Amino acid sequence: MCGIVGYLGEQEAFPLLIKGLKRLEYRGYDSAGIAILDDDGSLEHHRRKGKVDDLLEHMNGHKPSGGLGIGHTRWATHGPPNDVNAHPHLSGDGQLALIHNGIIENYHSLKETLTGRGHTFYSDTDTEVLVHLIEEILKNSEDLDLFEATRIALNEVVGAYAIAVVDVGRPHELVLARKSSPLVIGIGEGEFFIASDATPIIEYTKNVVYLEDEEVARVSLTAGLKIRTIKNHKVTPVITELEMAMESIEKGGYEHFMLKEIHEQPRSIADCLRGRLRLGHGSIRMAGIDDHQEMWSQAQRLIIVACGTSWHAGLIAEYMFEDFARIPVEVEYASEFRYRNPVIGEGDILIAISQSGETADTLAAIRMAKEKGAHVFGICNVVGSSISRESHSGAYTHAGPEIGVASTKAFTAQLAVLALVAIRVGRLRGKLDEQRFNRLLVELSGIPEKVQALMALEPEIEQIAEQFMKAPNALFLGRGYNFPVALEGALKLKEISYIHAEGYPAAEMKHGPIALIDENMPVFFVATQDAHYDKVVSNIQEVKARGGRVVAIVTAGDTEASALADKVIEIHRSDDAFVPLLSTIPFQLLSYHIAVKLGRNVDQPRNLAKSVTVE
Ligand code: GLU
Repeated sequence: MCGIVGYLGEQEAFPLLIKGLKRLEYRGYDSAGIAILDDDGSLEHHRRKGKVDDLLEHMNGHKPSGGLGIGHTRWATHGPPNDVNAHPHLSGDGQLALIHNGIIENYHSLKETLTGRGHTFYSDTDTEVLVHLIEEILKNSEDLDLFEATRIALNEVVGAYAIAVVDVGRPHELVLARKSSPLVIGIGEGEFFIASDATPIIEYTKNVVYLEDEEVARVSLTAGLKIRTIKNHKVTPVITELEMAMESIEKGGYEHFMLKEIHEQPRSIADCLRGRLRLGHGSIRMAGIDDHQEMWSQAQRLIIVACGTSWHAGLIAEYMFEDFARIPVEVEYASEFRYRNPVIGEGDILIAISQSGETADTLAAIRMAKEKGAHVFGICNVVGSSISRESHSGAYTHAGPEIGVASTKAFTAQLAVLALVAIRVGRLRGKLDEQRFNRLLVELSGIPEKVQALMALEPEIEQIAEQFMKAPNALFLGRGYNFPVALEGALKLKEISYIHAEGYPAAEMKHGPIALIDENMPVFFVATQDAHYDKVVSNIQEVKARGGRVVAIVTAGDTEASALADKVIEIHRSDDAFVPLLSTIPFQLLSYHIAVKLGRNVDQPRNLAKSVTVE
């Protein structure tokens, strides 16, 4: 959560920080702030509840001058979003300014100790304690510089952090550190760019250093980059070259990132399959499996851990792995799994799914599974992310940067990767004969084209959105592979339109939710012609018999379900396992258009943040 930016160099820091904060705003947006060291050596500090634009409005055209600065866009964990809780936070003597992403879990006891030593706190945040702690350490030992004091302070901290600290007395350097929250350092010609992810950096330099957990760094105009661990071990920085393209982080003519990302899906799914699905050879090539074939063929069980939309991808994968590879699968919310005492060990493969690759609970689940001896296979979108680095093996989704907070293209890319893995492992374990294997490859390779065709449905879906936008509640129903699609449809609608929605297996409706159905309740069915079609048609009958209004996603040419539904959305026929890649798209478009019509902030829905790096 939250976005951190920093700049040190010859350019004016202010416009760079503002641009960077806007790029990172998807990570958190309940308040924003900056601190800039003026050319005359004094610290300018501006903070405001709300978005980066609210901060700019508050600054009323004022542009602080100076080549050293830090900026923050907050997703509050401790204390409400208001001006005082917004970052940067200052030390008591006003010499230090600090921004922080994460949670200082032992802030309470640190605060008590520091209060006892005369420190006064103005905010409710955990963050303010950290800047006072560094100040206290500096005060007590004149030999220490900011880097050393920060390093020592972090040894007293329990929790997660990515921080950047400015010292008024040191106008040529910036101190940084990370644990469990990401931080990237961009290395330019005589300048440094700091950010929570690479998106604000890419237009200035392609050379970056990803800080690792428990590392403290100092960037200095005179002494360059220095990194040590908080335990004071020397670290040699490893420079990585970014591969991201600028267009991928801009809206490209679309009104919202979410709409752009929905429309990118034919390409993002194709990118994900490219080089892996080899129709000509009749094979799937994935290093994460090819290099560990024995392990995959002997695995006793798969445990899939994820949160939110990625968890829905995991549920669909459960059906795929059972279907293609006949291997037992459990799908777990990472936040529950990690706090149980799960039975897991050698012979188990843990598949961790996360768009950002930084999801705190998923990362913790990985560490726990590794400790217990399981092999970890990570699926994430952000290259170089913590999950990708901490997994034993894995596969990137290659969907490109996803900026809209509600996940769309990352979800379908996850499904595509999971389909490849399940088919590959099914063949490896001898559970898919050659004929079915080849048929699945052909079907899967045809998905991007079918997704492209679905985009033509947008005007029709927009009309349906118009009709249902006033509903206070909605129900999403599906069976089999399409049950998780119903969950995801409901989540999308909730996230961006704030309409209460629930997803259910269609058969479960009779065990409770049917009581909700009346003429005001829209019910969105996935009623495609798969193994469960007849049963779903009966469920539609049950809803209609109680006056419910039905929108059904059906297979092209369908008559039976279509005759019952009030509105019908037709999608192409596909193998049951790949239908979710298609049936989820109309729900994305529907939620998008309802949210737009309701005037919601589609790309930055209230209370949410894109990358959940707090537990
Ligand atoms: N825990 C800090 C706060 O509540 C930082 C939250 C964040 O990552 O934005 O201010």
